[in-house]
Amino acid sequence: MNSTTEHGSKDDLVVVAGGGGFIGGWLVGRLLELGHRRVRSVDLKSLDDWFQHFPDVDNIVADLRDLAACRATCRGAAAVYNLAADMGGMGFIETHKAECMISVLINTHMLLAAREAGVHRYFYSSSACVYAVDKQTSAAVAPLREEDSYPAMPEDGYGWEKLFSERMCRHFSEDFNLITRVARYHNVYGPYSTYDGGREKAPAAICRKVIQAKHDGDDEIEIWGDGEQTRSFMYIDDCLTGTMEIMASDIAVPINLGSSQLVTINQLLDIVERIAGIKLRRRYKLNAPKGVRWRNSDNTLIRKLLGWEPSIRLEDGLEKTYRWIYDQMSNPAIVRRRAYT
Ligand code: NAD
Repeated sequence: MNSTTEHGSKDDLVVVAGGGGFIGGWLVGRLLELGHRRVRSVDLKSLDDWFQHFPDVDNIVADLRDLAACRATCRGAAAVYNLAADMGGMGFIETHKAECMISVLINTHMLLAAREAGVHRYFYSSSACVYAVDKQTSAAVAPLREEDSYPAMPEDGYGWEKLFSERMCRHFSEDFNLITRVARYHNVYGPYSTYDGGREKAPAAICRKVIQAKHDGDDEIEIWGDGEQTRSFMYIDDCLTGTMEIMASDIAVPINLGSSQLVTINQLLDIVERIAGIKLRRRYKLNAPKGVRWRNSDNTLIRKLLGWEPSIRLEDGLEKTYRWIYDQMSNPAIVRRRAYT
């Protein structure tokens, strides 16, 4: 692994598209910590709804489906991280396929604008949802290697958009010499992310349900599916480290960025129950959206190319995530955004 996670000069303009979101907000914070002096953060949501925003950053509210907005966003930039997408957990992507696919406009227009602006490096946040669904049907199947995305049969809607956008990045590199880097994120979790409202993912949803049960004195929790579906979950700090390393690297192909600590959803709940000091009866909602049966990240390539892989234990990351959600739910008046402190 490189000794530094930086790229370019500290005075170069770095753009984070989707900076009002979970990963984007943390990434802006990491860039500032590393001493970057010129950061532009762009998101569709009004500033009050950004998970985090920072005073010394050029914070812009814009719709990046629009080419003109992408041109304004990329103007003067040396590096672009594109994390903007209309997305959520399984409950969202299984029921909003068109909206997920419309995010293709964001990456397409951002690539066009980045090329015009002479951007040096461009990062695209892809997803494990690009992997062929038939490679994720049983525990007998091996962890997902990068080549398992073809022949293509990704998650309908969201996964197709990600796979197509990966290829747009590749062809902008091949045809226009724009340096593009693509990470396939496997479930990222941590504080300052959605935990209610329908877009939340399993770790945050389970923390919220456990906290709610505690508050209400309930002894039961609803689990989507039979709880035996497996996943791996990457803590946000590992995601940021990997993202910046991949951006700074010469890795020209899409690469897995995920934890390989595999758990069932039942085991995920066991961990949260231990953190909360509570034991709940499980009511399984078998017809709820649950995604593929089995998924894990094969980290052979990232270990080989970066000499590194995500390693923060789920127990440790969940502890921090649980505490943050607990604080939010216990005191809604808490100002959620670090930037205000
Ligand atoms: P997020 O929803 O918190 O952040 C995405 C941000 O993009 C949101 O703030 C949203 O308002 C913004 N956005 C949506 N449409 C926009 C538009 N038209 N113009 C400008 N901004 C727009 O999600 P996240 O978890 O931070 O994910 C970031 C990226 O990583 C996304 O591309 C997502 O698909 C990808 N990803 C995330 C995960 C995960 O587990 N969180 C897993 C795989 C891939």
